[in-house]
Amino acid sequence: MTLEASNAGEVRWGCPELSRASNFARAMAEAGPARNLEPAKASALAAQAIGVYGLHPGIPSDRYTVEFDPLMLDVYGETASNGDCPRVRLGPRAFASASTLVATLLHEFVHVRQIVAYALGKQGVGDTEMAELECEAYYTEMRAGKDLQLESNEAEYASRRFHDLLTRLPEDRRRLAEHGEFRLRPAIQNLPEENRV
Ligand SMILES: [Zn+2]
Repeated sequence: MTLEASNAGEVRWGCPELSRASNFARAMAEAGPARNLEPAKASALAAQAIGVYGLHPGIPSDRYTVEFDPLMLDVYGETASNGDCPRVRLGPRAFASASTLVATLLHEFVHVRQIVAYALGKQGVGDTEMAELECEAYYTEMRAGKDLQLESNEAEYASRRFHDLLTRLPEDRRRLAEHGEFRLRPAIQNLPEENRV
């Protein structure tokens, strides 16, 4: 299944919200090459993707921001802690297709939740913790991508990255992560309640 509009103008989809999903896929196709996207158009497409697929990091929408950065050419997206209000930036690569945009948002929203839940803006994170945070984001992208029936190349990319990152985890945490369980070090887990959501 795909969310892309074919050359004939037909739209196929894998989402239960057929008309909304097809409108979103059509809007993505009509927006043209991602590198030429106007910031306002990009923001509207991201908002549409979030609405159609019900994507959210599990915290109120006024606790984080999503922006388009036309100059961020090397990665799909990036999430910074930005004090107490995580800031998601999406580059043009995130807008290559409807599936890519949804997969990127899924991934970055895991980071939003991690930043708030673990108060990551207030402390340093080591290489192993960073690998585990990324592992969780790719795992979610991989699993949710399957549920949302995103294009297979998105799921394959997430799966490849997930398995690469697994090799950077210690044995005990690798075994948990393989089953979708992610444990940060106790110092982060035992933060006072007020730092959590
Ligand atoms: Zn990430």
